[in-house]
Amino acid sequence: MRKVILSILALFFLVSLSTADQTIKVKTSGGTEKIQAIGKDDRLSYSLSELQSVLGGDLKWRQPGISVAYNLDTARFVFTIGSPYITLNDTIFNLVVPVTVVRGELFVPAATFTPLLDLIRPENISWDGSAKTIRVNAEWFNITDINISAKQNGLLIEIFMTSPLNFEIYESEGNWLNIDFPEARIDRAKILSPSNRTYLRKINAFQFDASAQISFRLRRGYKNFHHTYKTNPGRLQIAIESESFTADSSLVGSGRIGPDEKIDVIVIDAGHGGTDFGAIGRHKKTREKQITLEIAQELAKMIRKDKQFKVIMTRTKDRYVSLNQRAKIANDAKADLFISIHCNSSTKKSANGHQVFYLAPAKSDAARAVAQFENAPFLIDESGLDKNNENDLAFILNDMIQTEFITESADLAYMADLEMRKRLKIKSRNVDHAAFFVLNRVYMPSILVESAFLSNKNEEKKLRSSSFRKKVATSIYEAIKRFKAKYERI
Ligand SMILES: [Zn+2]
Repeated sequence: MRKVILSILALFFLVSLSTADQTIKVKTSGGTEKIQAIGKDDRLSYSLSELQSVLGGDLKWRQPGISVAYNLDTARFVFTIGSPYITLNDTIFNLVVPVTVVRGELFVPAATFTPLLDLIRPENISWDGSAKTIRVNAEWFNITDINISAKQNGLLIEIFMTSPLNFEIYESEGNWLNIDFPEARIDRAKILSPSNRTYLRKINAFQFDASAQISFRLRRGYKNFHHTYKTNPGRLQIAIESESFTADSSLVGSGRIGPDEKIDVIVIDAGHGGTDFGAIGRHKKTREKQITLEIAQELAKMIRKDKQFKVIMTRTKDRYVSLNQRAKIANDAKADLFISIHCNSSTKKSANGHQVFYLAPAKSDAARAVAQFENAPFLIDESGLDKNNENDLAFILNDMIQTEFITESADLAYMADLEMRKRLKIKSRNVDHAAFFVLNRVYMPSILVESAFLSNKNEEKKLRSSSFRKKVATSIYEAIKRFKAKYERI
């Protein structure tokens, strides 16, 4: 019974996270997308975080809780929460209605903000107040459609374009096939809705400032692929050679966890370490890297006593481990669960509470801010990337958000939140989701636990006490057991 209640609870949270009080439409040639909106008439405002997924660009906090920047093409918007004044490059505009943050998402007034988008973009963008619709003129797209068909010896993917475009195709771990188009403007709505998805686990389509990317995660492995450009109509054909892509209805909806059906190998990831200190306590200069390791070791001890589990730790001492290495350790071990342990931090002294995250594209700006902080080591140490190029970061974070384990990860996150509520006696900031690099590279259900705030005097004190850390570890351990009981099929 308890299990039933829990899963209903989890479902409820999942649904409530994704609903605002109303929606507006974004109409492109490829179809119509709905985005969240609040207020009415002149005060009707829509979620810029969601419109970004149609237009591209990069949206992030400049100062958490205070101001937000949105870079789109060469334009830069800066919003101050609660103020109707915004800047577009160096010019100040009065939107009349203040911009607001609701449930962590930035909402901008439709009637006064949409014309500014039109000002800076080559396509026509207009706001139709009576139809509550943003219209994006179709002509602008040069990647217009997609078709996927199963052949006897493989799978044929066709991407339709208005003229021959440059592209680069490459494969990546987890059966992903990615195509970068340096000059593309992609009709996302169309690309994301091919009529035949049987052989795909997932399609992603991202519009960046000057380029676009389409990624496919195939359900099965393949020998190799080749590509060619065809005319009338103009299209890129990608032929994926594999006899296993034949009609097989049993493929649809087959879910599984980990490499086998047993849930027994648990990876515990103590956040940060070595030269990466993580957050620093405001009062006693406590280092996040040390607290995370202590909680991780406590948790490992508990799990090891329980003979039904095996524990793997990404680090057991104060040393630097890159986010890539952490993911590799988990993937190589064919682990069933990945738990990353952290402490939160904020410029606001009063910010407090515990919070559990799972991996999904960040919907809230607050969640995005946490992800940005935890992803920072990635920017520092991974080679081959321009550290100052924000687009590179956005690319990596958005690119290939793996969604295979979202349901399980969300469920585990709610279980951990529930257990933490029982024991920690500090505020719960609820479960949220964001694009954490370390979670995105592990192919298993995963969560990231922010135990409490090091930037909060009271909570820093708690984090320094072994009894509090033990409670954090116990909560996670109980959640792991609940998860096993619910999902293991033997
Ligand atoms: Zn951290």
